[in-house]
Amino acid sequence: MIASGDVAPVSAAGADVIVVGAGMGGLVVAHDLARAGRDVVVVDAAEEVGGLLRRGTLAGVDIDLGAESFATRTDAVAALVADAGLPLELVAPRPQGAWLAVATDDGVRRARLPRRTVLGIPADPEADDVVAIIGADGAARARDERRVPVAADAEPSLYDLVAERLGVRVADRLVDTLCRSVYSRPAAEARLSQLHPGMWREFVARGSLLEAADAIATGQRAGAAVGGIAGGMWRLPTALAEAAASRGAQIRTGVAVHAVRADADALEVETVSGSLSARHVVIATGPAEAARLLAGAGASTRSPAAVRLVAAAIAHPALAAEPVGSGVIVDAALPTAAKALTHITAKWDWARAATPDGIHLVRLSARDAAAGTLATADEVAREVSILTGVEVAAADVVDLVVQEWTDAVVGAAAPDDLPAGIHLAGAAAAGTGLASVIPHARDLAARLDSALAASLPSSSLHTHPVS
Ligand SMILES: Cc1cc2nc3c(=O)[nH]c(=O)nc-3n(C[C@H](O)[C@H](O)[C@H](O)COP(=O)(O)OP(=O)(O)OC[C@H]3O[C@@H](n4cnc5c(N)ncnc54)[C@H](O)[C@@H]3O)c2cc1C
Repeated sequence: MIASGDVAPVSAAGADVIVVGAGMGGLVVAHDLARAGRDVVVVDAAEEVGGLLRRGTLAGVDIDLGAESFATRTDAVAALVADAGLPLELVAPRPQGAWLAVATDDGVRRARLPRRTVLGIPADPEADDVVAIIGADGAARARDERRVPVAADAEPSLYDLVAERLGVRVADRLVDTLCRSVYSRPAAEARLSQLHPGMWREFVARGSLLEAADAIATGQRAGAAVGGIAGGMWRLPTALAEAAASRGAQIRTGVAVHAVRADADALEVETVSGSLSARHVVIATGPAEAARLLAGAGASTRSPAAVRLVAAAIAHPALAAEPVGSGVIVDAALPTAAKALTHITAKWDWARAATPDGIHLVRLSARDAAAGTLATADEVAREVSILTGVEVAAADVVDLVVQEWTDAVVGAAAPDDLPAGIHLAGAAAAGTGLASVIPHARDLAARLDSALAASLPSSSLHTHPVS
C-alpha cells in the first residue's frame, strides 16, 4: 500500500523493519524485505517517493530533476529491474559522448571528453583527445610521471597527487573538473582511495597513475559508461515502490520522522503523526538528516551543502547540431555560474521523441548553489552561449524549472558504531550514485532478513513464498 499522511497501522508487536526515507536506498531495502515476507513500513517526509530521483515537466515533457542516469560499471540497476520485475526499459545514451570546456589564455576551449581516462586521469597523455585539452606541453609533463618517486607518507589529496605526478594541467583541466562535476567537491578535498578504491589499488601496485588508468580503462566494459531509463530515471523509484507495495510493504509519504530512539528492548520511530516501533530501523535519508537522526539532535545545527540545477527549454536552431554532444563539463577556472550542462534532447532518444520540433531541452548545474544564480532566462542564455558556443538570447528560453537539493552531498564517512538494530542505507552509507546505493541496500536487506530469521521463534517464522 502506498498512501499519504498518517502513519501506517503497525501491529502491537511492531514492524519487522521501519525504513525512514523512500529514496532508492530505502525503497530497495523495503522491496527486498517485503519480497522475503517481512513486515516493512516505509515513511518519507516528501509527498512523492524517489528522493533525489524526481520528475519535473519542461515544455510539456517529463524530465529528471535529480539523477538522470546510472553508471554501468556494475549491473546493479539492470539486476534490480529484472529481479523486481519492473516494467521499465533500460536505454543507452546516444553515442556522441560529452565534452569539456576549459579555460585557456585565449578564452574557452571546447573539446571532447577523452575516452580513455579514469576520473580524468588519462591512460595515454599523448592521445589526441587528451592533448586537445591539456596542450602538447601538458602532455609532455604528464608523460614523465615515471621520474616522480612514489611518496611513502600519508595519501595526499587527489589534486596534489595528480598535480605532483602528472602536472597541474591534468590536475586542473581534467581531474578537478570531473571531480567537481561528478562528486560536487574539489579534487583538493578528495582522496583517490575514497572516490575510486580500485584505481588507488592499481596505483599502489604499479607506482604510476598512467599505468593504473590504463589498466582500469582496459578492463572497463565496452559500451556507454552510463545507462538510463526510457521516459526518465524518476520512473525507477515509482515502479519499485509499486512493486514493494504489491509485495506487502506499507509506504507512507508526507510523514516526517523527528527522532529514532533505541530503548532497552525496543526501537521507536517518532513521526509527525505518532510513533512506530520495530525490530530494526533503517535510516535512508540524505546524509545530513541521517547524521541528525543518529545524533538524536532536535534540529540540524549545520546547513547541509546544496545542489542547484536549472532545466530549460530553448528554441534555437543551431542547437540541433549538438555542438557539445550530450553535454559539457566546465573547468573551474572558467568564469561561469554553471559547472556542467546536459543537452537532454541530444543525449536521450526518448526525450527527443517527446519534445516538440525546434525545442531543445538542457539542464545546467550551478557551481555554487548558495550563490542563488542560474535562475533566470537571462542567466541561462548567457551560460548556454558560453558553454556551447551558440549565441542564445533570453527570448529563446521558452520554459524554465529551478530545482535545489538541500541534502545531496555526501561528506564524512558513515559511522560504524550504530546502536543495535539501527542501520544506515542510501548514499549516506554507500557513497553517491545508484551503482553504490543499490548493491549496498540489497546487501543490507539480505543481512536483515537473515537476522530476523535467526531472532524469530520458529512458530512465528514467515511462510510467504519468495516470488
Ligand atoms: C542533481 C543530482 C544528480 C544526480 N545524478 C546522478 C546520476 O546521474 N547517477 C547516479 O547514479 N546518481 C546521481 N545522483 C546521486 C543519486 O541521486 C543519489 O546518490 C541517490 O539517489 C541517493 O539515494 P538515497 O536513497 O541515499 O537518498 P535520497 O534520494 O536523498 O532519499 C532520501 C529520502 O529521505 C526522505 N527524508 C529525509 N529526511 C526525512 C525524515 N526526517 N523523515 C522521513 N523522510 C525523510 C527524503 O524526503 C527522501 O525521499 C545525483 C544526485 C543529484 C542531487
